[in-house]
Amino acid sequence: MKYISTRDNSKEYSFEDVFIKGLADDGGLFIPKEVKKYSTEELKSLSSLGYQDLAKEIIYPFIGDFMTVNELSDIVDKSYSVFRKDNVVDLIKLGDTKILELFHGPTLAFKDIAMQLLGNFYEHYLKKNNKNINVVVATSGDTGAAAIDAIKGKKNMNIFVLHPHEKVSLVQRKLMSTVKEKNVFNIAIEGNFDDCQNLVKSMFADKEFSNSINMSGVNSINWARIIAQAVYYFYTYFQVHDKRPINFSVPTGNFGDVYAGYLSKKMGLPINKFIVATNKNDILHRAISNGNYEAESVSETNSPSMDIQIASNFERLIYDLNDCDDDETTKIMHGIKKKGKYIISKDKMEKINKDFLSTSMSEKEILKTIKEVHTKYDIVLDPHSAIGFGSLDKVNLEGNNIVLATAHPCKFPEAIDKSIGIKSELPDELKYVMGEKENYDIVSNNLSKTQQYIKEKIKWN
Ligand SMILES: *Cc1c(COP(=O)(O)O)cnc(C)c1O
Repeated sequence: MKYISTRDNSKEYSFEDVFIKGLADDGGLFIPKEVKKYSTEELKSLSSLGYQDLAKEIIYPFIGDFMTVNELSDIVDKSYSVFRKDNVVDLIKLGDTKILELFHGPTLAFKDIAMQLLGNFYEHYLKKNNKNINVVVATSGDTGAAAIDAIKGKKNMNIFVLHPHEKVSLVQRKLMSTVKEKNVFNIAIEGNFDDCQNLVKSMFADKEFSNSINMSGVNSINWARIIAQAVYYFYTYFQVHDKRPINFSVPTGNFGDVYAGYLSKKMGLPINKFIVATNKNDILHRAISNGNYEAESVSETNSPSMDIQIASNFERLIYDLNDCDDDETTKIMHGIKKKGKYIISKDKMEKINKDFLSTSMSEKEILKTIKEVHTKYDIVLDPHSAIGFGSLDKVNLEGNNIVLATAHPCKFPEAIDKSIGIKSELPDELKYVMGEKENYDIVSNNLSKTQQYIKEKIKWN
């Protein structure tokens, strides 16, 4: 499969370029030149596969020139052997609604599903090309832990994770900062998540710096993450489909997870609607309901992994809305950078609303949802998943509704305690983390200071 950039679709890239670079040199996001569309018969032939075998089928067409079928098969099996469920994910029923639990990986959030695969993709690439790299990534809490777990101890690579100082939960931080492998570096930036993300973007844009350290990124714009996430939409569809339309409610920050769902629909999976469920950092809700994509300042909430005002993956949708016009997309993205906003026209809103609905939940509503679900079904949802669940009530959509549960409740014990007065405990095999010594450095929100810190830490062992 060949890839192009949303800001210049005349130049072609291989999957290897796309995976290692993350972002195109023109600042655009990578997307496939063409997406394979499955017929009804083809979908039927995939419908009885187990999760791992399905992942191999879905992913291979996207990466074909990067590795052989057998190599991918080994990597998928290895990546998902560390999950606590045989089929990676779990589906549970709460009344008429289904919950897709995506948090059974090593760091208790859905990000493990893509990240474990990426770690092994890197290993394959570095061995084949005899190279070394430094992964630098910004996190609002969950990406960092998932990336560290996937990369820790791997040869010829280091990982640097920038998290917003004192703005991630204690469990989130412990899962990152207690890892002992020598190739893992945690940096607490004195700022918010968007500051961390801007630092990483600036480091990539500084070619002298990024080339000098062989910098690579695993942020949610990395296409390899999107295809790994598309798999669970297929898997779930095959598990639950009946005669009713199928809708997915997706707790959303960077628009990565829900974009993966949209990709699966573009690949022919007959999904009705995606609900873009946000907390009070609701830029995407304002965009999808009113056409007003305008960044405001970030508020801290009890769903910190969604405390984002710049939804990086949204550019991929903007490209589609503008009929794959790369010049127009570039213009819009420059406008967003300069004026902080993009007003979406009426005809484009009609297009968006064919696939997407949206909601925003207040802190109070989130805690109330956790409580209601607990009382009614004896299940504890984490605050992010509760946003997905509560959003269904708000949009009142008929059909077969599935909520993505993106994190284990034990990652956010304060919110759970506040809502239902229960101490949500870590799974036994992770309890030790809370007592381990932490290792992270606090660095000011400053590009050259952060670059200097990284340069000083790099040594190849
Ligand atoms: C990252 C994250 C999200 C948001 O996912 P996006 O792909 O950024 O939209 C939601 N919930 C949890 C728990 C997360 O870690």
